[in-house]
Amino acid sequence: MSSQNPIFIPGPTNIPEVLRKAVDMPTIDHRSPLFGRILHPALDGVKKVLKATQAQIFAFPSTGTGGWETAISNTLSAGDKVLATRNGMFSHRWIDMCQRHGLDVSVVTQSWGEGIPADLIEEILTADKGRQIKAVLATHNETATGVRSDIAAIRRALDAAGHPALLLVDGVSSIGCMDFRMDEWRVDIAVTGSQKGFMLPPGLAIVACSPRALASAETATLHRTFFDLRDMAKGYANNGYPYTPPVGLLNGLKLSTEMLLEEGVENVFARHHRIASGIRAAVAAWGLRLCAVRPELYSDTVSAIRVPDGFDANKIVSHAQNAYGVAFGTGLGDVAGKVFRIGHLGSLTDVMALSGIATAEMVMVDLCLPIALGSGVAAAQQYYRQSIDSQKQKAA
Ligand SMILES: *Cc1c(COP(=O)(O)O)cnc(C)c1O
Repeated sequence: MSSQNPIFIPGPTNIPEVLRKAVDMPTIDHRSPLFGRILHPALDGVKKVLKATQAQIFAFPSTGTGGWETAISNTLSAGDKVLATRNGMFSHRWIDMCQRHGLDVSVVTQSWGEGIPADLIEEILTADKGRQIKAVLATHNETATGVRSDIAAIRRALDAAGHPALLLVDGVSSIGCMDFRMDEWRVDIAVTGSQKGFMLPPGLAIVACSPRALASAETATLHRTFFDLRDMAKGYANNGYPYTPPVGLLNGLKLSTEMLLEEGVENVFARHHRIASGIRAAVAAWGLRLCAVRPELYSDTVSAIRVPDGFDANKIVSHAQNAYGVAFGTGLGDVAGKVFRIGHLGSLTDVMALSGIATAEMVMVDLCLPIALGSGVAAAQQYYRQSIDSQKQKAA
């Protein structure tokens, strides 16, 4: 594995040099005003990236998984009914966590490659006359399959049913890369981590909470201590944490949000879309299919690529690592061995993406798959050239 190569796993993502430097800082007194000057701009920056005005942002020393736990343990009580869709490994794990917390999960099972069926969610919510369902869980971008679900449509389903359930969204592999509208979609809790769209090392669970979600923290009775939003909110009001904060990571988060906002979040989203479209052009040129079954489900942060039947996709990942020092993602769960994944999120350019496509091609040719060297690269080059041309025309 060469550290000179970009990484193509769907998180942790490539860390820009300036962010590595921002994270590496001398110890400061985290109870001094100095800390507040790092903490508050970092939280405000996240809020802007999320297009949130009402929400309060929290950053726990944890990962996305801890963010899930924060979301459920602060808003729900044992035995509460929640509605969730299982369409890949990450939605599966969140459901498993809910069950281990003693929640009563109604699971909508989708085949892997499908999204969350908003129409079915609406039907189930409409039929729930007693308003037993307390929360709807939604994984915005299922990283195992490269499927983006439509959160706006889920909000419309809740509204059409006139249902008061909270909307809890896993945005771990979408936030900071694909459009996310906390206010407009009236998301109650959005969860992410530091190591994906924010391009930082792992170590932070970043959780945005609506006023409604914060209010439910007053009555929810699931056990929580480390992840209690009320303790954290009290700490923030005094420029501090209820325990020792990961100051370097928060300093990184402050700079990361500055970088995203300076590039312009719409430009960040457009960049991810362009890079992803080039990769999809390459996949088509290889004659392969994505795991995501329809174009409107295609993720702009990760592509899960199906390999021909009978071929073990894990061989692509291990050979890429061994021969070329490049990391791709393996298939997880139901699609283990059937797909390999190219992560294309975070600090990435068209040029970097071309190197990943070229590597995948060499690997597949080495492994005797019927793919011509240069075919995917050429398709992506054509796409990138044209998309740059049309950008220039727009600018002119
Ligand atoms: C990575 C990821 C997680 C898990 O995050 P960790 O930081 O590994 O705990 C959860 N959900 C999605 C969609 C992810 O991509």
